[in-house]
Amino acid sequence: MSGATGADARLMQGFATRASGFRPSPVRDVFEVSMRPGIISLAGGNPDLELLPLDRLGQMASEIIAKEGLEVLQYGSGAGLEELAELVCGFMESEGSRPKLDEIQMTAGSQMGLDLVTKLFTDPGDVVLAEGPTYTGALGVFEGYEVEVQQVEMDEQGLVPDQVEERIKQLAAEGKKVKFLYTIPNFQNPTGVTLADDRRAELVRVCRENDVLVVEDNPYGQLGFDGERHRSLHSYDPDAVIYLGSFSKVFSPGVRVGWMVAPPRVRKFLQIAGEAVTICPSVLSQRLVLGFMSEGMWEPHTRKTSTLYQERCEAVLNACEQHMPEGTQWTVPEGGFFTWLTLPEGGAADAEKALPRAIDAGVVFVPGTAFYDDAAAHRAGNPPAVPSGARNVRLAFSSVSPEKLSEGVERLAKVL
Ligand code: PMP
Repeated sequence: MSGATGADARLMQGFATRASGFRPSPVRDVFEVSMRPGIISLAGGNPDLELLPLDRLGQMASEIIAKEGLEVLQYGSGAGLEELAELVCGFMESEGSRPKLDEIQMTAGSQMGLDLVTKLFTDPGDVVLAEGPTYTGALGVFEGYEVEVQQVEMDEQGLVPDQVEERIKQLAAEGKKVKFLYTIPNFQNPTGVTLADDRRAELVRVCRENDVLVVEDNPYGQLGFDGERHRSLHSYDPDAVIYLGSFSKVFSPGVRVGWMVAPPRVRKFLQIAGEAVTICPSVLSQRLVLGFMSEGMWEPHTRKTSTLYQERCEAVLNACEQHMPEGTQWTVPEGGFFTWLTLPEGGAADAEKALPRAIDAGVVFVPGTAFYDDAAAHRAGNPPAVPSGARNVRLAFSSVSPEKLSEGVERLAKVL
């Protein structure tokens, strides 16, 4: 917030205390750089929209307006379009959940779901557990609500339930109440790591027994390279888990449609909180998503795009193998958009410092520090020796051709 002058500065003096926690998204920060000619962007986790049946979608949009214009251009239900919620219920079955209609809340994307859950369940100073590293957009929400974020490291199979329990108990001993665990179990952002199936029931049990809600964020779950769907955490204990789903990664982030699944009483509160922000989810957008799904485009599109992402993932991993400095490690994702690099210990490379040089060399990425929040450690007088994530790099392979991915990794490797 520094650097404001004149009228700006006067207005900003009136900001609420919580505004000091707001920071721009590091991913959106590099967005403009990504658009420069000649730059290869390994930064943005954007879905590739090239394979969408645009002609049919265009026709569909005009048919919807011609036939149902008076409804879809009007305010709609605060809970969302019932027919779409019905399809969502059916879809959730593919992950082992069997929600009822009154447990589904449509949203303007999982980002909104995350905001509503945090608004509803936390007071300033409450603790939220998350994976270390975690989705930077979630950190932004938590900061906005003045929540303390505690991150639990993962191994190559995701969170370790025992370690989560240990952290909850340790925090309780310090007099801190953990309100919820925020987790992205499938093809995680930013690491690409997937929580092992045999840890899922245990993780939910640990949280339930310690009275910690689980917030399961699953925007990538349908994008497994082998087409398999992992069982949702929600399916193990629907009273202990709030599930966030999204149409952004498998259809379009521009339509801004997602959903939440929560027990009916909680769902009702989420609806009230949502109505205070957007009145209702966009009826037109939901109707378009409904058309996309009910015309059977969903499954084939998901399959085609995940094959595309698999090829791209292989291209990135091969290029890392060929070009990255000795001792660099990376995750091997089974789906989704991202891989996560760990630069060699003791090496000179600091990802954040390398970014400007990488941009000069024609490649952009998101440094690992964006996915950590060290504020609690600083407050406790126990900051890490180097910022968490300083030796890490997130590479997004979803929206770049294999040739460009190889070239981008080669450029990056030279800088590192
Ligand atoms: N959660 C995660 C883990 C994400 O990666 C994203 C998008 N980058 C979101 C939530 C937000 O998605 P949506 O477009 O559905 O709001």
